[in-house]
Amino acid sequence: MVRRGSKARLAFSIGLVATGLLGLGSAAGCGGTRRPDVVLIVMDTTRADRLGVYGHDRDTTPRLDAFARESEVYERAWSTSPWTLPSHASLLTGRYVSAHGAHMKEGLAFDSLGENPAHLASSAVTLAEILRDEGYATAAFAGAGWLAPEFGLLQGYQVQDAENLRTIPAAEITARAKAWIETIPADEPLHLLVNYFDAHDPYRPLPEFDLWSEELPVSEDPAADDEAKTAADKVERTLALYDGEIRGMDHQIGELLDHLEITRGLDDTLVVITADHGEAFGEKGAVGHAMWLYEPLIRIPMIVRRPGGEPARHLDPISLVDVLAIVAEATGIELPAGVDSRPPGTRELLFAEEHASPLFRKLWKLDRDVDAAVAWPYKIIANRPGKTELYRLDHDPSETHDLADGEREKGLLEQLDRSLADLEPLPEDERAPEVRPEIRDQLRELGYVE
Ligand SMILES: [Zn+2]
Repeated sequence: MVRRGSKARLAFSIGLVATGLLGLGSAAGCGGTRRPDVVLIVMDTTRADRLGVYGHDRDTTPRLDAFARESEVYERAWSTSPWTLPSHASLLTGRYVSAHGAHMKEGLAFDSLGENPAHLASSAVTLAEILRDEGYATAAFAGAGWLAPEFGLLQGYQVQDAENLRTIPAAEITARAKAWIETIPADEPLHLLVNYFDAHDPYRPLPEFDLWSEELPVSEDPAADDEAKTAADKVERTLALYDGEIRGMDHQIGELLDHLEITRGLDDTLVVITADHGEAFGEKGAVGHAMWLYEPLIRIPMIVRRPGGEPARHLDPISLVDVLAIVAEATGIELPAGVDSRPPGTRELLFAEEHASPLFRKLWKLDRDVDAAVAWPYKIIANRPGKTELYRLDHDPSETHDLADGEREKGLLEQLDRSLADLEPLPEDERAPEVRPEIRDQLRELGYVE
């Protein structure tokens, strides 16, 4: 939390002692008398294919796999963006990136004055604002710095617990979320957003979850002809550490779900577990995230347990923006006009965007806009300027064979461009929010600002 500091945390603890036990054990008696709880769990930087439920052969997610067996699993889910701020803004507003506007844009003074570069405009109507106005208690606990209050994503949350200058480990996030849950009376609906940041670089799992990196060979001092093998070993080792991070996050998700079951009862709860984007480990020349829209970066897990829902595996393509429609259906809330969110099963085309900007040019030499669209089984990636790529994901999930020939991709490209042109951008704030001096100093140290 930004400068809430120990005072707020102390007040929090006192509140917990005073009111915490009111909610315990009484959830069963309130079924049907209030709207369902809404719990969103975002696994930051977590690609779908490293989870057991999505076919990974390592046991990275025993708790999530068990939960998924009681839930609806969307096999074909995509984010709207390959990095944290825009994708969370899509999740929380039900709008695509060019519509909500929370991304790096030309004209932002980030790399000259250090002013706040990108944020969600106050004109946005967020899920938390809607639910708060419907009488929900709302709180967000986030490990990612981009969820710090100054970036606007958490508007509408009565508790905005995220720090820009420190990423908060999963165990701490879980503890804070659990403490807050206990303060909410059983007859009051709650909306909880949790962002676990542990899978993000650097990959340093806690020792008890570092289950796979030790078994791998490490070639430290290769001869020249071993270079490729060494590079491959390194990737394998990095992936093993990444898997360990996911295993640790899975443990925390299990703890949180157990707590919700005990204190509130999960039968009357909508739980959505997803990711904001994935992570690349050298596929298609991509490393990390941002910049690219290949599958490792934008294909995400999407596990949904609805009140009264049945377990299922869905093949309908779903976008991160559609979570809002799922919440609306489960709670009976009305969605704001102009959102891009659609109920699952009704979407033919979904897309993702990445925009060049002064900052990205400086950091990563990103000199083009990139848009991608999926109309199953086809996916195009439009590099502007540059070549448009076309892949057939059912036959070629690794996007190895570019089928674009100037003709075949035309129809999908036109559909994508029409969809982008139809977006209704939110009015921007007249003035970007202030960036606190200590953040400006940090950005300067990192070389982001002059
Ligand atoms: Zn992220």
